[in-house]
This record gives sequence, C-alpha cells and structure tokens, in this order.
Amino acid sequence: MRILVTGASRGIGRSIALTLGGDHDIAVNYLSSRQEATRVVEAVAEQGSDAVALKADVSDSSAVDSMIEEVVDTFGTLDAVVNNAGIVEPDLATDIDDEQWSRVLDTNLTGAFNVARAALPHVEPGGDIVFVSSIGGTGGTVDASYAASKAGLHGLTRSLAREYGDSGVQVNAVAPGPVETELNGAILGYLESIDFRGHENVDTHLPEYACQPEDVAHTVAYLLENDYVQGEIVNVNGGMQFR
Ligand code: NDP
Repeated sequence: MRILVTGASRGIGRSIALTLGGDHDIAVNYLSSRQEATRVVEAVAEQGSDAVALKADVSDSSAVDSMIEEVVDTFGTLDAVVNNAGIVEPDLATDIDDEQWSRVLDTNLTGAFNVARAALPHVEPGGDIVFVSSIGGTGGTVDASYAASKAGLHGLTRSLAREYGDSGVQVNAVAPGPVETELNGAILGYLESIDFRGHENVDTHLPEYACQPEDVAHTVAYLLENDYVQGEIVNVNGGMQFR
C-alpha cells in the first residue's frame, strides 16, 4: 500500500510510519520538524520501502490538497491515510480563549477532515482511513478543546464509514490512553501545575496504563490489514476506560 501518515515526524506518527515501513510506501507529513521527518524517511527507506517527507499544515485545506496531489504524483496512487497529527493546549474551560479553541479544533478535527476529504477520491476499494483519536474523545478529559476535537473525530469516523463503506473503503479510529510522547508530557505537566483533583488519579494510574507509541502503531497496522472492521473506535489503553 501507499500510505500517508500525518504528523509522522515524531511520537506516535513516527512509530506508525516505521511500523508500516518495509511492507508499505510511506508519505511522512510534518509541520515544522523537517530534520526529524527526514530521519523517518531515511529509516523507512532502509527498510526497503519508498518514502517521502511532505510539509503541510493539516489545518490549511489548500496546503492539504497540494500535499495529497504530491503523494499521488510520487507514488502513483494513495491507498490509505492515517490521520495522526494533533496538538494539545490544556486549560480549564473558562480559561480557553477563542484562538486557543480554534487552533486545537482546526488541527485535530478540521485538519483530519481536510486530509480525509482530499484523499478519499483517490482511495480505491480495499483502502483505509484511520483517525488517531483519544480516550478523552469518549470519556472527556480536563481539557475541553482537546476532548471536543477527539469526540468530533468519532462522529467523522462513523459518518465516513456510512458514506464510503459500500464502496469498499474502511474508516476506523484508534483511541489511545496515555502514550509516552511530548504531547502526553504537556498534558501531565498541565495537570500537575493546576493540582487538579483528578491529577492524582491520572498520575497514579499512569505506570499501569501508559503505553508506548508502538502499541498504537500495531493497532493501526491491524486495522489496515483487516477487511472486516468498519466504523469502529478501537481503544488502546490497557482497560483504563473501565476505571
Ligand atoms: P507529538 O506532539 O509527539 O507529535 C505531534 C505530531 O503532529 C508531530 O509530528 C507534529 O509535527 C504534528 N503536527 C502538529 N500539528 C500539525 C499540523 N497543524 N499539521 C501537520 N502536522 C502537525 O504527539 P503524539 O505523538 O503524542 O500524538 C499523535 C496523535 O496521537 C495526536 O493526534 C494525539 O492527540 C493522539 N494521542 C496522543 C496521546 C498521548 O498520550 N501521547 C493519547 C491519545 C491520543 P512537527 O513535529 O513538525 O511539529
């Protein structure tokens, strides 16, 4: 397959690119980490697959349209997209300003929509769209903009599954709990800074529930290989949603 992974310069996206590389050609999207993205491309090439790094802000629909055209020009086709790019700007609801709310929604939700909308006309039957959501999208979190953006991805996942399932395109999401990356560090730092009543709970459970980026990447790989999972939000959190 020829697969675009957004936000693949580091963290979970990088791990997804490296897990899929070797079996698939990978377009590595990034926003500002050019060197890191180049290193991911080199690592995928060492695995024997074609790879290309593509800078595009997913919240900018014309940049996304150009990126998708470049992927198709480079690989000849596009079989799957993993919508992984995401940001977090944690704050209590009453402290979130308009720009902050828009940045998070524009990147995490509108960005994922921009990429899916531009990619879908190219994705043939048997292809996939996978969204990287979060446990916060289902259960909420101490960060309304982030949780709302991820909950929106669940609606997007199920709507696109309805629209495109009949044409043989699978649309699913993975919803990780805490994963050891820079983004998760920002969330934990914030919870600690506000001494929120839930912080102790989150912190206590972290060693038990935190997973590595590879655990998410392998779940994404499974969804890409499987032909019968459609419109699902797959939790990857070691059971944290039951606590
Ligand atoms: P990181 O902060 O480690 O990496 C974020 C990635 O997204 C980077 O590659 C970054 O590119 C890219 N990115 C950010 N904004 C944009 C943009 N506007 N356009 C294109 N790329 C962008 O985050 P994680 O790896 O932790 O998170 C990846 C995904 O997983 C996110 O959607 C996140 O919400 C989700 N997730 C993470 C969890 C966690 O605990 N870590 C838990 C649940 C879900 P660059 O390096 O160039 O800035």
